[in-house]
Amino acid sequence: MKELYTSTDSSRIGLCQSVLESAGIASFVQNESSPWLGNMMSPAVQPTLCLMDDSRYEEAVELLKPYQESSMIESMEWTCTKCAESNPGSFDVCWHCEAEKPENFRALDS
Ligand SMILES: [Zn+2]
Repeated sequence: MKELYTSTDSSRIGLCQSVLESAGIASFVQNESSPWLGNMMSPAVQPTLCLMDDSRYEEAVELLKPYQESSMIESMEWTCTKCAESNPGSFDVCWHCEAEKPENFRALDS
């Protein structure tokens, strides 16, 4: 069993799983988000997409490449120019003072 993909976003995990499924590659999700953990999940319990059949690992990695790249961009933190708090890449405004995300980070979204 190999770990393929980890994300705090369980809908993204689900998407990746269905991509593998349509290619006939069996996979399952470990640490699937639990209702009582909500958004407070620590990195240690991030949902992880795992492969049932290790021999198809390279094929699976190829299939998921585009999804992994976009997730890297999303996980890139940006620093608020107004209050200097760091924010997750998926936030468009500062969680602390609601200032807008700086232009140079916005460019990475497209
Ligand atoms: Zn701020």
